[in-house]
Amino acid sequence: MLLQFPTDNIPIQEIPINKNVKLFIKREDLIHPQISGNKYWKLFFNINKYLEKNPGKPYIITFGGAFSNHIAAVSAVGSFTGIPTLGIVRGEELKNKWRDNPTLLFAKRNGMNLQFVTREEYRNKDKLTEFLQQEFPEALIVPEGGTNEDAVAGVKMMLNNETKDFDYLCTAVGTGGTVAGISKYCEENQKVIGFKVVDDDSLENKIFELTLKKNFNLIDSGFGGYGKIKDENVRFINNFKEKYGVPLEPIYTGKMMQKVFELIDEGFFPENSKILCFHTGGLQGIEGANLLLEKQNRNLII
Ligand SMILES: *Cc1c(COP(=O)(O)O)cnc(C)c1O
Repeated sequence: MLLQFPTDNIPIQEIPINKNVKLFIKREDLIHPQISGNKYWKLFFNINKYLEKNPGKPYIITFGGAFSNHIAAVSAVGSFTGIPTLGIVRGEELKNKWRDNPTLLFAKRNGMNLQFVTREEYRNKDKLTEFLQQEFPEALIVPEGGTNEDAVAGVKMMLNNETKDFDYLCTAVGTGGTVAGISKYCEENQKVIGFKVVDDDSLENKIFELTLKKNFNLIDSGFGGYGKIKDENVRFINNFKEKYGVPLEPIYTGKMMQKVFELIDEGFFPENSKILCFHTGGLQGIEGANLLLEKQNRNLII
């Protein structure tokens, strides 16, 4: 079973902020209940091309951290298509604790087989990939975060006639595939801003290799580092949901949106700019984040 093009248009919602610019959000999080946001499009051509090749025994292998939206999405693809999946997860210590992790529990319930590896082994993913491809010659091995050429091609589907109207296109950046796709396929006059939640100096070069266009800027939005959640992030997300009715998660979209608000207040955007932020999904991560916050006796995400 192939992944389908959604029949409904993804809504673009105005965020009424009463400033000298106009802010909108494209609700890519609504594309699919389990394969959310940008992960749907990053997997779309990867999975469909693979299935069209008719492998005798289809098998999908991928990589991710303990709360990875990508692992969750691939496991859901496996459950919908009936294809067995294997997730290589960073952190050997999770071997006996995966039941306490909502993302890994979700993946398991979708039938994903999980293999836990040390951080050292995980860093050598290239070697691991080579080994796995020899072991399972027919398997589709999707890289971490799903970023490759086919993923970038899929991100094109997040753009349409309606998105051409905007001066700025904003997205959170992890591995860079999404911002690369937006940069590659947007209009000549549009500016792209990637909100970097990962501290990785090589990202700009990696993105450039995928888009070959120089229309994007990266802005650091780490708020203390990848996966770190500050009280101010929780407060922002909760306020945002209360005021505008849009849920954000604390790893990507919450940090992007908080930074966008800061930039608007600093006068970064010229007057009357029309800004479009992509809601790249990942809401499954809220449950896991709340478990950590609860352990630390801190305010939770509502
Ligand atoms: C994975 C993810 C991103 C980052 O996408 P990249 O293509 O890896 O840069 C952004 N937002 C959410 C919600 C994600 O799950």
